[in-house]
Order: sequence, then C-alpha cells, then structure tokens
Amino acid sequence: MITEYISMPEDAPDMEGIRRAGEIIKNGGLVAFPTETVYGLGGDARNPESSRKIYAAKGRPSDNPLIVHVCRLEDVAPIVREIPEEAQLLAQAFWPGPLTMIFHKNDVIPYETTGGLDTVAVRFPSNRIAQELIRASGGYIAAPSANRSGRPSPTIARYCREDLDGRVEMIIDGGEVGIGLESTIIDLTDKRPIILRPGYVTREMLEQVLGAVDVDRTTISADSGQAPKAPGMKYRHYAPKGDLTLVEGTKDAVVSCINDLVRSASQAGKRTGVICTDETKDLYRADRIFSAGSRQDNEAIARHLFRILRECDDLELDVIYSESFGGSGLSMAIMNRLMKAAGHKCIKV
Ligand code: AMP
Ligand code: MG
Repeated sequence: MITEYISMPEDAPDMEGIRRAGEIIKNGGLVAFPTETVYGLGGDARNPESSRKIYAAKGRPSDNPLIVHVCRLEDVAPIVREIPEEAQLLAQAFWPGPLTMIFHKNDVIPYETTGGLDTVAVRFPSNRIAQELIRASGGYIAAPSANRSGRPSPTIARYCREDLDGRVEMIIDGGEVGIGLESTIIDLTDKRPIILRPGYVTREMLEQVLGAVDVDRTTISADSGQAPKAPGMKYRHYAPKGDLTLVEGTKDAVVSCINDLVRSASQAGKRTGVICTDETKDLYRADRIFSAGSRQDNEAIARHLFRILRECDDLELDVIYSESFGGSGLSMAIMNRLMKAAGHKCIKV
C-alpha cells in the first residue's frame, strides 16, 4: 500500500483533504491524524474489519481495546447502554479534551473494537482536525495511538511515518501535538469511579468534579499479582530499544548515582544517555543528555517525553538513565509512562 501524506494547520483544516480522509475511513481504510494528546490511527469504530486492520497495522494484540472518538456529545448515547450522571458532569468539565470515559457498550460497537469487552472507551478530542475528520467519517473513529505496538506514541507526523508508512492509506500532518501524553482514562462502570490510566486531566481535577476517585494501583507499581483494568496497560509500552532505568531520590544522590552508572556503562563500551531536567542537565556526563524541561513545568516534561524516548533509538543508545518525578498531578502520568518504558526498573538512592 502507498501511504498518502497531506498536511494542514490545526486552525485552518483543509476541508477537501479531510473529506477524502473521511471517505477512506468510511470505506474501511485507515488514516493517522493529530489529536491534542498524541497522533491517532483511525478506522471506522462500527466496522469490525477496520478494527482488525488497526490491530494488524500496529502489530497490537487484539485483546487490547480501542478508544472510540466522537465529535459531539449527543453521539455518545447511541453507542452505550446508559450515561451515568458522573459522565455528564465530567463531559461538561473536560470535553472536548484529553479525557476518556468507559461505558457499558451496546451492539453498535462490535467486539472487535472493544477487544472482546462489554464496555467501550469514548473520547471527544478538542483538536479541530480530529473533530472534522470524525465528522467526515460518519461520527465514530476507533483510534489507538499511531505507533507500532510497544514504541512511544507519536507526537509529530514523522514518527507516524516511521512506524506506519505502507500500512495505512493516509497520514495527516497537523504539526506537533500540544500535550504529548495519551488521555486520562476513567472507568465509570463500577460503583466508584476509577482512573485506569493517568493523563493530562489529573486525579485532583477529576476529584473537584466527582469527589473521591480511585486509581488503579497497577498504573504505577509493577504489582505482578494484579491485572490492570485497562488491558493495554499490561503491555510494556513506550519503550526505547536501549535499556532504561529510573533513579529516584534527592537531587544530589540521583546525580551522583547516575554519573556512576554512566561511567561504568561507558567503560563497558556502551553508548549512554541521561534524561533529566533543566535544573540538572549541566551536572551529567554522558554521550547524550536530554533535558525534558524545567522541573517546575510538568507540561513541558509531558510534551517532550515521547520524543526523547524516540531519539534514544535514533541515537542507538544502549543504556539510558532517567531522573524520576513526584507522584501527584501531571507527574503521575509522566511517572506512569516512564515506569512502563523502563519495565518498572527503578533504583532508589
Ligand atoms: P491507546 O489507544 O493506544 O491510547 O490505548 C487505549 C487504552 O485504552 C489501552 O490501554 C486500553 O486497554 C484502554 N481501553 C480501551 N477500551 C477500554 C475498556 N473498554 N476498558 C478498559 N480499558 C480500555
Ligand atoms: Mg498506545
């Protein structure tokens, strides 16, 4: 398959390009497109064959359900059994935006899209290109992140091309995404709302609307005995090809531990990288030092993280050491992604 590339600015979508992309999806094909979180790999959520193609293009296990994207609030009711009051409150507060809610599904969405589950994940993205594409495709786009399974989610169209060239009909380049981490996922099908995947919409923000909200424990700890409630969270994800280890502790202890580890790795002939912050970047010696941004600016760290993980691959780094980040607010999402990328390898100093 030859992949067609088109590009457009978010504030002025090329409506003819969007119309053609919509036709591709309506006809059962796949289109990668920008959202405010990361790039998505979209197919018709109501077409089982499209969902099968998404799994094949990504090399993703088919028990890992897809998120259904809508472009209007009123499009949720036709695909779910009920809309709990919590969902209405959350939609008012955070939609369109980076929040995914889990509902009981009805027959409109096939099991191929939900990985065999009786529940369906739904999101209303705020990116205008995404909204127009969903509209042009008939209203329901199933879209996981537009990366090959196991690789960091793409934050620019070039990364979609690296992973999906020849595997999808079209890639829409809408520039760099604003957030850089996937949506927060909250499950509303149980007695108490529970966060299955931390994201830009933090626990604190959700609690302001709903009161107490639980967090699936597997989002941070390895907890081998327990299966994550979001099936996708059990896979090692976001991983660079090199060996990534996190180091946690006070600033001075972390810097000296990482420098020691880098020194031994270099002596063993390995190419080394360090992921750190503006405050510490001058304190390290390694083949490559990446600052994700200021420690005061979690949004910058979130936005840069996946790009840095991909650059580790481009530079063929063998070992990478990363500073770690505190546990609440947006740091919870940052740490969740880093811990998964590291296969939960974390040294405490
Ligand atoms: P991605 O689309 O790559 O951001 O991954 C989607 C994430 O949503 C995966 O971790 C899925 O396991 C999770 N997810 C999708 N649908 C459901 C569902 N019905 N119940 C629980 N988790 C879900
Ligand atoms: Mg993904």
